[in-house]
Amino acid sequence: MPSALPLIYHPDYDIPEWNEEHRFPMSKFRRLYKIISEEKSLSPVEFHQPEVASTDHLQAVHTLDYIQQFMENRLDKSAARRIGLPWTEGLARRTITAIGGTILTLQLALKHGLACNLGGGTHHAFPDFGSGFCIFNDASVAARMLLQEGLVQQILIVDLDVHQGDGTAFIHQDEVAVFTFSMHCQSNFPFRKQHSDLDVPLPENLDDDSYLRILRANLPELLDRTEPDLVIYNAGVDPFKDDPLGKLNLTWEGLQARDQYVMECCLNVGAPVGCVIGGGYSKDHEELAWRHSLVHRSAAKIYQERFAITPFQNSPAVA
Ligand SMILES: [Zn+2]
Repeated sequence: MPSALPLIYHPDYDIPEWNEEHRFPMSKFRRLYKIISEEKSLSPVEFHQPEVASTDHLQAVHTLDYIQQFMENRLDKSAARRIGLPWTEGLARRTITAIGGTILTLQLALKHGLACNLGGGTHHAFPDFGSGFCIFNDASVAARMLLQEGLVQQILIVDLDVHQGDGTAFIHQDEVAVFTFSMHCQSNFPFRKQHSDLDVPLPENLDDDSYLRILRANLPELLDRTEPDLVIYNAGVDPFKDDPLGKLNLTWEGLQARDQYVMECCLNVGAPVGCVIGGGYSKDHEELAWRHSLVHRSAAKIYQERFAITPFQNSPAVA
């Protein structure tokens, strides 16, 4: 049993030929990996490399038509524009590799209690179209896989990216086994919201204290009500005050307190947690990668405190 936090990364998360001026900060994944792998003061972590998700995996959520059209660069102009990322073979490969990463993250979370992807969180992807830089929905694909394999009976998705997890909400709207919770800035993208099982819309410019108060008023009750075998945590860092697409006013300390609270709260009730990094934007990709690394730093510390001596024991119902 490893005493190091499982982290999931693949060099293909990055696309070397990517135009650095593009609004989507592709280099953040490579930078994030570098920051974490070179950080000396970090509690022990262990890197795992995922395999690409297969078409079969993707079909747990997405239509075959859409999968093939995207993978073969046959999407029509408006569908491609809605995604907002220029198609390259590297983009297609990174997309299915990151989905494979979230699948592996959840598998390792079930086994070890806590695991974090260095990518993932593409929550604006719908079954037959992509949107807002999201192509396929990693959390939904991975959740359906684990459910189909009988490894879990109940999943809770805690989506704290600043944008509503509209694709995720839509995909699981009639699925009792997946409870979707989204806390997001009400006036932000997507402008046409879907119905999550629980939506908590937030006003603009909310600060750390108010944000954390609202989170604390919702999450424990939700864990109590849903009794999940697994929590998927979208730790998007776009609620940060300087995020150009955010509109909220959280500081680094606020984001860190949020991440710690979510992980502790879930682990306290015995629910393993798989984290994905979600959204985060800045022209300064290095600062952004640091901001994303907050969740991995906290996770490594929590993992060490909880599981280094007494390894995680999954509940009999899930084994
Ligand atoms: Zn976002």
